[in-house]
Amino acid sequence: MADFVLRVGSRSAQGVRPNNEDRLVVDMDQRLFVVADGMGGQERGEIASGMAVDIIPRVVQDRLAHQENAERAVNEALREANDAIVDAGKNQPFGRRMGTTAVCALHQNGKVYIAGLGDSRAYLIRNNRVEQLTVDHSVAQALVLTGALTAEEAKNSPYQHVLHKFLGCTNLMDGAEVKPFIPEAGDRLLLASDGLTNHITEDDLQSGPQRFTDPQVWADYLVDTALGRGSRDNVTCIVVVFDAA
Ligand code: CA
Repeated sequence: MADFVLRVGSRSAQGVRPNNEDRLVVDMDQRLFVVADGMGGQERGEIASGMAVDIIPRVVQDRLAHQENAERAVNEALREANDAIVDAGKNQPFGRRMGTTAVCALHQNGKVYIAGLGDSRAYLIRNNRVEQLTVDHSVAQALVLTGALTAEEAKNSPYQHVLHKFLGCTNLMDGAEVKPFIPEAGDRLLLASDGLTNHITEDDLQSGPQRFTDPQVWADYLVDTALGRGSRDNVTCIVVVFDAA
């Protein structure tokens, strides 16, 4: 099993919003990375994303310590975070729900386990190829998958930002799908909130590894580029580079 030295860059920018509801985790001990994008207005989005980044690493650590496999550990961590956020939302005035997206990556036993709920994304950039590893849980994307909308129509759909799966969802069904991939030397993994992905193109992602060897410099560039292109949202990303050990 190949081992890797991980280099990581990360940045979260408030942008023009009155507060930053995005949160991120870079946990080098567990090799766990999380981006969460809170929803709910006022302080509720921040509370939800704050709970996600508090609960997920704690549950993953606990489950792995009890010899649970990585896939189940991530799934359970998301489920526990979901339940806690649903509970916290019950104390909110009627109709004022709160929730958060979460996209997680855990490097464990030669694989990287990816899971996402909501529309924060994970991308793998390998040998000039860009692959989106997560599915957006937006209503618009669900309509694309059924063939009711084209990808182009979905971009302008009023349902583009309406999520049907997220943390804080009372009916999460099977929870999050956890998908593993086997990393290769030179891989770049990007986790990002929609404030970034709405303004960054596949070309930007494809050309990044040649232009930016330092993941922090690339993370800063991606955030600054999204803001420069007019993102009015919070903008957050984590870049992980897999170097041969
Ligand atoms: Ca956002």
